[in-house]
Amino acid sequence: MRYQRASQDRKQQGKSVGDQDKLNLAEITKRGWADAGSFTDNDRSASRHATKDRPEFELLIEQIKAGKGDVLVIWEISRKERDLAVYVKIRDMCTEAGLYFWLVGGVLFDLRDKNDRMMLGFQAVQAEWLADPIRDNVLRGIVGAAEAGRPHGRLTYGYRRVYDQGTKALLRQEPDTEIRKATAADGTVTEYSYAGIVRDSFAKVARGVPLITVENELNGRGIPSPRGSTWRRSMIRKQVLNPAYIGKRVFRGEVIGDGIWPALVDEDTYWACVRLLEDPSRTTTRAGRAVHLLSYIVRCGVCDGPIASSHGNHRSREGRLYSCLRKRCAAVKSEFLDEYVQRTVVAWLSLPETGEMLSALSGGDEQVAHARAEAGRLRAELEDWRRLAETGDVTAISFARAEKGLTAQIADHEERAQEAGIPPVLRGMLGEHAARKWAELGDEVAVKREIIRTVAEIRLLPAGKGSRQPFGAHRLDWKWRFGPEAEENGA
Ligand SMILES: [Zn+2]
Repeated sequence: MRYQRASQDRKQQGKSVGDQDKLNLAEITKRGWADAGSFTDNDRSASRHATKDRPEFELLIEQIKAGKGDVLVIWEISRKERDLAVYVKIRDMCTEAGLYFWLVGGVLFDLRDKNDRMMLGFQAVQAEWLADPIRDNVLRGIVGAAEAGRPHGRLTYGYRRVYDQGTKALLRQEPDTEIRKATAADGTVTEYSYAGIVRDSFAKVARGVPLITVENELNGRGIPSPRGSTWRRSMIRKQVLNPAYIGKRVFRGEVIGDGIWPALVDEDTYWACVRLLEDPSRTTTRAGRAVHLLSYIVRCGVCDGPIASSHGNHRSREGRLYSCLRKRCAAVKSEFLDEYVQRTVVAWLSLPETGEMLSALSGGDEQVAHARAEAGRLRAELEDWRRLAETGDVTAISFARAEKGLTAQIADHEERAQEAGIPPVLRGMLGEHAARKWAELGDEVAVKREIIRTVAEIRLLPAGKGSRQPFGAHRLDWKWRFGPEAEENGA
């Protein structure tokens, strides 16, 4: 009986299973024996750390137990079984079954001979000693790869890995922009790419679109989740909190440095998602529980401590108050402050100058340049299609199809170029529709909080003894976070 086995370790200087098979058969033929069966395991590790089962090996064991064969032919002991304990087990099993002869690498051993047993035992010990460093090297390879910023393990959704055709070595990990098709339940077919889905989910979550809406849109289009099933909120949440998408390498839950792959989203968008999803107000939106728009965003103008919501006086009809949490330096009726701050912020978002200023802040941005270039390239492509359609080289139908796709892509890139410098949470919130957009946010308090926090630094000042002046600008120290210092709001 012959047994051949290959190891996954390419660097190991062992013979291939094909070579082992030829050598083993040659030994059998040379000796004029009859071949009682050949057992080959390909790409299986026989070391004691291996987890894969080896069916052919099991068959061999069965044959030995059944008393088949007179000689076990193997090329080298490490090829048969590296585990010392298993070696001893097979040896004893062979002795019991009366299979006394092992032909190892052309040398015949008799298991009944104590000298031969010692030689085989020595080979098994040596094989085990050789197997352990291999496993150690595999582990070191994983840690080393993490440290060097190389990806390993499961591929992050949205990327693909490019390998060298010859050496199979990893060349790079890049955004997976391959166009795929998804079919909705009603038969509507839409196109998407893995990278596009990731970018889209980030952009939406950063703008404050609820995870449930993102989930419904993806499932509605029939786009399979990374696991091939339907999307769940938890998956989208995990995705937009994954630092791998800003090109960071995570190892055992910690960011350990830059990866060798490019970011799929910009850091502004990533951190906006983190802030929105980890905002405490988002986790307290259970029914019946009030969510306070400005708690911990507005600070005390006297001691700089946080302003938090409190019950006020239960017996009066005062309602809720925002007050300095530490020393009660200043307090205001919640509805006054909520109303004033929202009105001021929405007015600022509505100003045409605000949008212009924010866009101008990112004038030389690389992303903006890239998006503009891409929009330009697509416009040129669209022109080519038009020419081909005019000369009759493409049909009207294929032109219409190309035009539809390209126009959408151009719009997408132009929008990206326009919005690249604008904080993600403000995208789509600027200009004449600001008030309507704000109203549409409804009880998405986390989004409103993120917008307010992004645009202004607000401190509450004490009312002053005996002041009968109604609540207004004089009670606030207000600084816009964008624009020249001169734009500080005093009115
Ligand atoms: Zn205070």
